[in-house]
Amino acid sequence: MNDNCPACTRPDIPPITGHTAGNQASHLYRCPGCGHIWATNRDLGAYGQEAA
Ligand SMILES: [Zn+2]
Repeated sequence: MNDNCPACTRPDIPPITGHTAGNQASHLYRCPGCGHIWATNRDLGAYGQEAA
């Protein structure tokens, strides 16, 4: 799941690594334009369960 760089707004950057745990998906990104590194956590929301 690609993301936009929050530092320079470069679009459509693919994750360099990622994993899922429970219903959370985490991805790590490194911008090829400015070198900024950030991570995202997304709730997959596929199971209809409240997060504890
Ligand atoms: Zn950037």
